[in-house]
Amino acid sequence: MTQGSPSSSGLRQRTSNADNRPKTPPRPTAISPATFYGTDSSSRKQGSSYTSYIPPDQFREPELVEDTTANNTWDSWGGATTTDWGESNDYTANAATWDEPSILRKITIDGREEDEELHWYDADLRALKRRPGPGVLPPLLADILHDPDHALYSVSTQPHPPLATSPTPHTPTADEVRTAIPHPNAYYCREHNGWVLLLWRSSTVLPPLVKDPEAPLPDQARRRVTTSCVGDDEQPFGQVNVTHHWHRYEKAVDATKLNPPYSHGDLLLDLYLCCQCSTYCLVSDVIPGVIPLPLMDEFTREKIANPAPDKSPRATAVAAWETVLTILDNRLWRDEKRSLPISRNKFRTKIGWNENVAQVFDSLGFPLENLSQGAQKAGELALHPPPIDSDTPEGAASRKKLLRAWVELSAWLVIFEKNKEALKSYNAMVLHAQVDCVRDLYQMGIGAHVTQISRDGLPDALQGYTALDASWKSLGMTPSMYTWERLAFAYLAQCRCDPANTMVYFSHLVNIVNAMINLRIDVPDELQKLIIEERERCRFTPEDCARAASTLGFGRDGELGVDLDADVDDEFIAQAWRSARQRAWQRSDAHTRRAALNDALKIVAEARGSKALLKIWSEEKGSGMSPETAYSTLDVPKEVDEAMLLAIYSMRVEDQPSQAERMREALSVIAEVTNSERLRQFLATGADPGDGTTVNASPEMPRGLNQLGNTCYLNSLLQYFYTIKELRDAITPMATTDAKSLDDSKFTDEDLRRHRVGGRLVTRREIMRSKKFVSLLADLFWNMKMCENAAVTPAVELAKLALVTSQDEEEDETEADKAGTDSSNDTDATLVDDMAVAARPAFDCSSSPLQSPKSPSGSVLGKRPREAESAMDVDARSQTMSLSPRSSPPTTDSVASSKGHEATSFIEEAIASSSSSSVMTAKRPAEGANADTDVEMKDESQVAKAPPPLPPRKARQTDDSVMMFGRQHDVSECMDNCMFQIETALLDFQGMATSDDDKTSPVKRLFYGKKRQRLIALSPDDDARHQSSIHEKEDLFSHLHVNVADEGFDLYDGLARYFDDVVEIGGMKKRMEVSLVDLPPLLQIQLQRVQFNRETQQAYKSQAYVKFGETIYMDRFLDSANPEKKARSKVIFAELTAARERIQHLTQGKHAPFAPAFANVADFLSKQDVLDLPSDEGFLSSLRSEGELITEQLRVEREKTAQLKAQIEDIWKDDTSAAYELTSVFIHRGSSPSWGHYFFYSRNLPEHPDSWFKYNDSDVSAVSKDEVLADTTGSTANPYMLVFVRKGCDAIDTVHRFNPEIDLEEAT
Ligand SMILES: [Zn+2]
Ligand SMILES: [Zn+2]
Ligand SMILES: [Zn+2]
Repeated sequence: MTQGSPSSSGLRQRTSNADNRPKTPPRPTAISPATFYGTDSSSRKQGSSYTSYIPPDQFREPELVEDTTANNTWDSWGGATTTDWGESNDYTANAATWDEPSILRKITIDGREEDEELHWYDADLRALKRRPGPGVLPPLLADILHDPDHALYSVSTQPHPPLATSPTPHTPTADEVRTAIPHPNAYYCREHNGWVLLLWRSSTVLPPLVKDPEAPLPDQARRRVTTSCVGDDEQPFGQVNVTHHWHRYEKAVDATKLNPPYSHGDLLLDLYLCCQCSTYCLVSDVIPGVIPLPLMDEFTREKIANPAPDKSPRATAVAAWETVLTILDNRLWRDEKRSLPISRNKFRTKIGWNENVAQVFDSLGFPLENLSQGAQKAGELALHPPPIDSDTPEGAASRKKLLRAWVELSAWLVIFEKNKEALKSYNAMVLHAQVDCVRDLYQMGIGAHVTQISRDGLPDALQGYTALDASWKSLGMTPSMYTWERLAFAYLAQCRCDPANTMVYFSHLVNIVNAMINLRIDVPDELQKLIIEERERCRFTPEDCARAASTLGFGRDGELGVDLDADVDDEFIAQAWRSARQRAWQRSDAHTRRAALNDALKIVAEARGSKALLKIWSEEKGSGMSPETAYSTLDVPKEVDEAMLLAIYSMRVEDQPSQAERMREALSVIAEVTNSERLRQFLATGADPGDGTTVNASPEMPRGLNQLGNTCYLNSLLQYFYTIKELRDAITPMATTDAKSLDDSKFTDEDLRRHRVGGRLVTRREIMRSKKFVSLLADLFWNMKMCENAAVTPAVELAKLALVTSQDEEEDETEADKAGTDSSNDTDATLVDDMAVAARPAFDCSSSPLQSPKSPSGSVLGKRPREAESAMDVDARSQTMSLSPRSSPPTTDSVASSKGHEATSFIEEAIASSSSSSVMTAKRPAEGANADTDVEMKDESQVAKAPPPLPPRKARQTDDSVMMFGRQHDVSECMDNCMFQIETALLDFQGMATSDDDKTSPVKRLFYGKKRQRLIALSPDDDARHQSSIHEKEDLFSHLHVNVADEGFDLYDGLARYFDDVVEIGGMKKRMEVSLVDLPPLLQIQLQRVQFNRETQQAYKSQAYVKFGETIYMDRFLDSANPEKKARSKVIFAELTAARERIQHLTQGKHAPFAPAFANVADFLSKQDVLDLPSDEGFLSSLRSEGELITEQLRVEREKTAQLKAQIEDIWKDDTSAAYELTSVFIHRGSSPSWGHYFFYSRNLPEHPDSWFKYNDSDVSAVSKDEVLADTTGSTANPYMLVFVRKGCDAIDTVHRFNPEIDLEEAT
């Protein structure tokens, strides 16, 4: 046993140790390290504590550590190699990527990993990293080790002074007395009357563990690097941690396996390891003393409460205990065997007697029994001393117990008597034990000593503020040790070692800071910064989490109507988020709202630890980027289609790799705004999943056309043009048209006057515009021929020129001028509305010489100035036409001059009124007084065609916000515009041709035929009165129109009505007959499906199936057709029409269909029991028979129509000279007349007339003839235009792909 205070000896050791050993924390010196644990450190010097360490000459950066480890001698011990040093390197590497000025980096702490901290929610990562879990800082550990209000004492016994009497056979040996202390590292607590086994040391070797610890052990390699976090000399590279971070492993070490072992029974010790250094600490629960604490306390309390007259209360207690100690002393050293009669005066005054005292003695092994015989008073009770001879097990046990009790009582008294004042003048007995408080010692050992960690930083307002107790504790610290740096360290260390609870720690940190704010304590900047930085890393509190859930719409009052609990799956949350983000655009605070939603999803995702949600979040969150910015970043119009968008995106990324991230962000914003699964998939996988159909990119296939906004009907048209060989050949050379050749000054006024297109003169500007159009078309054609990709993207400028007529463009500009629109406004972002920004064309249009660079963006979009467009649009247009010769529409067969307008409107009206059904096509009101003169047309050689009735258009504002080019233009209008421009561009100013119907123009040559029209008074009376009322004229046509209204018609029926119909003119019904004088190579038949319902005042699309075949014979419609046959078929056709009208009346009249109606009424009446009607079987049966009658009538009429139809066909069966073969079919799919999808079939001519291609924007596929000719009844996808090619005419060459063998040969 060493002399003197262990405490002072420990401290001395620290200061006087002159050798090179790293300073280990002081420890009690009662037991030599050489014998403890069996680690013979004197010979093997195992463990870092005893490893010589030569410090580097100078301070070295942490990254140089590796050099040292290469030579270090530690790695041969302990099993683990030092490759785990990597963690230190990680720190260095991370430090470079982390923001240096960050407060997060200012804290002295190691072992953090950014990636781990950012992905704290990732259970897989956590499993991989195996962090030890929550830790505590030394001051809290000190509190945990033992009650901080208690002191622990190292107890040493003094040699018992020589006794007056000679030693008895049972006198305890010195060794016995020493080992009466339970363990060399057991410290006595007076308050507990017990012992705490407590030891601490710095060693790379861990004590033997009872079992695999439940929480992972801290990384041993990292621990080994540093001897101790505390003390300058212990850390080779300077202080890397504010203090220790202790991790508890409960009951992990068996005290009986220690060296020396604890030999008083089973005892498991809690192990505390610092995750940052080699220090560890073992502590037991309190090992109770011999006399149970309650007895001890009650004994003392009772004495203090009843002090002796001559003593102070405390002296009374001391005296009582001294008596007990003396009894023990006498028993052990004097072998006193006499019983202690408790009723004797001496006992009564010194100790007193009560139940508690009895129990105290009972616990010491002194049973209360009757006094043995021979005593003075029979029946007197006395305490009997236990045996102490070590020969008997009983004696040995009670000997040990008495010795322990003797030590404990001695220690108790020494400690109790330390408060000398309370004892006043009491002359205490001599005690044979010495105690030394070890508080300082173990606090030093674990780094909790006030000299190591000061306790003066807590703001006064927080002293005794218990509301934060749980927060301090959770962070592993005590309030008394508070400084901002330690708080930050405690927080970061917890997050580092227990990432799963990062948010718990964060909320406690926030709690503390909030409390400081509430208590008006100045919160250190560093703490404020820490919280800000942590919030930037998406740290959140439970309140934040609840708020996030409600932001997403969860909660009782949320729009989703469900709580966010474990039952809600990720996909549901993701959809809730997506939909909320989309809805956010409707709000004025869209950006704030969306940012809030993003944050909310991240919080919810992290709180749930859902990687799937986080993936969705990171892929789809975009940024604060608005849709407008997204579109303008990619420089695409808002209505760009997905294929096009992806094409442009890839192009942009290729062009500007540095902007790739931003482009991607923009794309993700668009994906989300448009809620596009295709774009999402592209973002997620990098591959375009396509629009659901596979694209055939084989070289022999025609190329597709990527869609630009709502322009698929334009794509159909462009594909159609491409299949027409002569047109293609005429256009292809125009690709070379450059700005120079577009110099408009080379056209003289004289030149301009020589040519008319569409029956009117064209302006220089229109010529320039058309040349530009055709040049772009030629480019497109070239690409369609050469391109290896499956699809080609038409230039936006081309689409614009195709869709917007020159008149519209000029009107827009005029309007803009009137409104004083100035280009400077357009560049002012604040003045540009959403549409203008979003719909900026993808390609530079300002280089076009035809485009005023100052034109407002609206005109680029083809905003049309027409106001009040309605079902009566036709009228509005024709009035414009009649008022302004310049603005007559450039319809290809509208060759009427202004003078011819009356005739135009007359014919239009005639056609418009030709429908005899109750459902009418849009019809112009009669133009009153002019009606008669309208039919005056003897000067007229040309009459405008009847423009097809237009569908009513939506209000312009609506369209503008939805469509790329202002609205979805009429297909026929677009076609006319294209043809007008092709024709204008191909005008031959060198040649001398001047006639409108000159056949030098490929457009005229290919598409134009000549027809003769006769208008005949219907009634014989009229005929009699006005012989002159037979009017006849010829004009050109490029389309034939078939009115599609009813079922059961085939193409011949439709054409028959076109060629012979009754029309109403000026209130008079007249017959109009049309015959064909001249047939074009390409016969375009428009199926007029847009119909107008007078009752509902709505346009609608007729879905009626019009049967057509691969071949049509036009002979019967020729002017030269056999008049006798014509007359015969005319009669039959009249019958046929009458029969069809009856059928129509019965099936589609106001209350039709009648047959089922009768049956239903009869059925209803026979079964109903609501009304008390007299039963009338006669009525019911007549109802039923009426229904049957109608059914029969329908059957008869249908049979008749079939017969009549067959008769007509029979008449013409041999007239097959004007044979035409189907070559193109334009399809509209949809039920609205103004919306829908358009695609196109083209026959693979000339080589494979039995095979067809389907052109569906970017997708071109081979399809069967059956698909093209299929009965479309019940489908909304049906033809709106059929094109036939004259048999034997090789006008069509469908595929026309680059063929090296042929094309290169031609070139040479
Ligand atoms: Zn205690
Ligand atoms: Zn440590
Ligand atoms: Zn730790």
